[in-house]
Amino acid sequence: MTTVAHPAATASATRPLDEARTQLAHAVDRLGLDEGLHRMMAQPRREMTVLVPLRRDDGTPTVVTGHRVQHNFWRGPTKGGLRFSPHVDLDEVRALAMWMTWKCALVNLPYGGAKGGVRIDPRSFSPAELERVTRRYTAEILPIIGPEVDIPAPDVGTDEQTMAWMMDTYSVSRGHTVPGVVTGKPIALGGSQGRAEATSRGVAHLALLALESRGIRADAATAAVQGFGKVGRDAARFLAEAGVRVVAVSDADGAVADEAGIDIGRLAAHVDRTGTVAGFAEASAIPASEVVLADVDLLVPAAIEGVITADNAASVRARVIVEGANGPTTTAADAILAARDVLVVPDILANAGGVIVSYFEWVQGNTALWWSKGEVEQRLTRLLEEAWEDVRAYSARTGTTLREAAMCRAVARVAEAQRLRGLYP
Ligand code: GLU
Repeated sequence: MTTVAHPAATASATRPLDEARTQLAHAVDRLGLDEGLHRMMAQPRREMTVLVPLRRDDGTPTVVTGHRVQHNFWRGPTKGGLRFSPHVDLDEVRALAMWMTWKCALVNLPYGGAKGGVRIDPRSFSPAELERVTRRYTAEILPIIGPEVDIPAPDVGTDEQTMAWMMDTYSVSRGHTVPGVVTGKPIALGGSQGRAEATSRGVAHLALLALESRGIRADAATAAVQGFGKVGRDAARFLAEAGVRVVAVSDADGAVADEAGIDIGRLAAHVDRTGTVAGFAEASAIPASEVVLADVDLLVPAAIEGVITADNAASVRARVIVEGANGPTTTAADAILAARDVLVVPDILANAGGVIVSYFEWVQGNTALWWSKGEVEQRLTRLLEEAWEDVRAYSARTGTTLREAAMCRAVARVAEAQRLRGLYP
């Protein structure tokens, strides 16, 4: 079985928090913001670390660690996913929370950024154990979440069932049902049409716009997708539906390739049966590390942070990279890619579809008025296209990369909110 090494285990390991802070420092510099404001944005406003006591199915008591980090409140309540992964640590959650602040600002949602993480491998927990972890973690962070305070959502290793348990636990504590405390809920519990595939839809939509901007037609394009979970799987499907030939796909257990194009529907059925892309008989097995280096037009990293680094950026052959994951490209890799004229659509734009439809879910829940799938998709496309045009125009005007442009737009908006609110007292 091939395993994707977590970046922390590789030679060029960089910490996501260092990357996030470097990106912020560059934006602050470009915007000419003052050092006091920079300091206020470089660290989280509030963070909570909790020990989550838990009984395993065999009766053994154990304890796992969880975090919730709220990076910035200036533009509204904080928003961001909850991650279950053995690699979770406080600094990673801090970086992910900061990226949520910029993402929400960039697409003009009235939120600041937050993130949660529980350090477990969800694959080694039974559904009953996952329910107990989720409920106890929710109970521990209860004082700092709420529909007007901080609104969690799914992320790596969590799903709509996790959100249903969180919503129920919070609601029981309040004595009434509070659907707005989380987003990414099942539709039967107040989830939104189109939320489950929103991140992937946005990634695929921006990928097509990015290819077009480079003069590459969808039906002549090839793609490689790293990660076949919540984001990669449907992104691959949407790309294939648009005519893109998806020739390489990986997940944490392996990778497969087929020059003629992988049948994504059949691959998805194989994953439903076996839990991994590995062993898919209709494509050849390749080392997972080769997917980011595949000879394709488009690369979609849709797994975890730090997979395109100074070590491999010079060998990336894609002309366009669209970041489905948060933080997949390090700053050093960005410079190498920019020098090679590889177009990188940054995470805070590329994968914003998820939090955009989370916002729609929150709005629908708060107003108890439900939108059709078509309405959700139309509004999603509009917000993404506005942000895409805005970032491209800024990038062209200032000679910056799309990431630098996106960061400048987002940070400027957050700084403006602070200026208008002023400092209290
Ligand atoms: N976890 C997703 C992200 O990283 C979605 C967050 C949300 O919907 O609040 O953007």
